Amino acid sequence: MQETQQMNYTGATHCTRFLLSVLPKFYYDQTDKAFHSMVDFITRDIGNLTKKGVAGPDGLSYYVAIISIKGDWPFLHKVGGLRRSFYNQPKRSEAKKACVGICHWCQAGQPGIPFEDLSPNCEWQFTLGVETPWVEQPIVLKNLCHDRSFPESFLHPDPWHGHHLGEGRNFVCNIMRLLLDITPGRNVDIRLDTLFNEYRSFCQRAHTQCYCTKFTENLFGVKSPNDFPNGSWTKGNFTTSLVKWVASFLQSKRNIFHPGSLLEKAAQAAMEIDLCYRKMYLAPLWIDAAEAKVIAGHGLQFLEIYQALATQASREGRALFLYNSKIHMNDHIFRNLAWEAEMAPVALNPMTWGVQLDEDLIGKASRLTRHVSSKPAFTIKRTLQRWLIASFAAWSKAGMLERI
Ligand SMILES: [Zn+2]
Repeated sequence: MQETQQMNYTGATHCTRFLLSVLPKFYYDQTDKAFHSMVDFITRDIGNLTKKGVAGPDGLSYYVAIISIKGDWPFLHKVGGLRRSFYNQPKRSEAKKACVGICHWCQAGQPGIPFEDLSPNCEWQFTLGVETPWVEQPIVLKNLCHDRSFPESFLHPDPWHGHHLGEGRNFVCNIMRLLLDITPGRNVDIRLDTLFNEYRSFCQRAHTQCYCTKFTENLFGVKSPNDFPNGSWTKGNFTTSLVKWVASFLQSKRNIFHPGSLLEKAAQAAMEIDLCYRKMYLAPLWIDAAEAKVIAGHGLQFLEIYQALATQASREGRALFLYNSKIHMNDHIFRNLAWEAEMAPVALNPMTWGVQLDEDLIGKASRLTRHVSSKPAFTIKRTLQRWLIASFAAWSKAGMLERI
């Protein structure tokens, strides 16, 4: 290897990703048949890249191995025909029907195997790959090479939905609720303005983008003390920015928090998760085992403190630090990183599984569909043609094509 392999996070998405297909919703909103036909066709074709290879312009054969499929949880649920997924998460703690499980990798959520257990001794870690999560083997596994001892690992959860639009976003909202309790001001709007000014100053000092113009109760879902805080934004970078700010802000105020208070614990948790993601973003594709252990340690430490925060909040009768199934998937991601670092000199950077730029590509393709014929058959063809034109321009601009 001549130089360190980096993450695929820079450059125009037209140049770093391929659009393989387009399927208007018309074809799959009533039945999954067309969706599965499309997946079958694509994966059989891609499977040939591994089995037969492709001839390069130099006359040599090249072989490509598909190592995983990533996407948000509804996509994984659909492509895998999953029996166990987040859709099964009980709405109430006293649900009458036994849960069949909330995770396709393990049996977390089943009776006696709480998915909320984030401790090092959790029961679910001993159930990985024990029970298949589907009734029928998914098409993707029929067509693509995979680890037969743990086939469900081929469907990989992503940290962008798990953290940036999941537990990280909600964690920040919980902190906001706690900070509103101690921020001076005669009403909540004044207190939110005070906190927003702190955030804006932080962004100016750090020379980073300030992602909003105002803090509101709706933004953080902190209107009613009886409801668990819940963020409403869809920009993952906003979460990253807010986590950095709360980590810094809470550290600066730490001496005023009561020892053992929720805010004091939250300050530690914020610091851990901020360090975890900062280090992952800076790391190359393959992380040295020693560094990977440190990064995994930050993530796992965050989860342990989160569990302590949830327990304490419940004891204090406060609707804070809700568990949801996304936190369990983040637990998998951090534990995997720690296990990989134990077994090999390097570990794969978990940000590999992030789908933020893939979502960017999907957004661009989706916008194209609005500018072509609305007849479904033409929508597909014209969108792909327009994509090729846009890609040609992007590839040319990036110097990736030799002009004849
Ligand atoms: Zn699991």
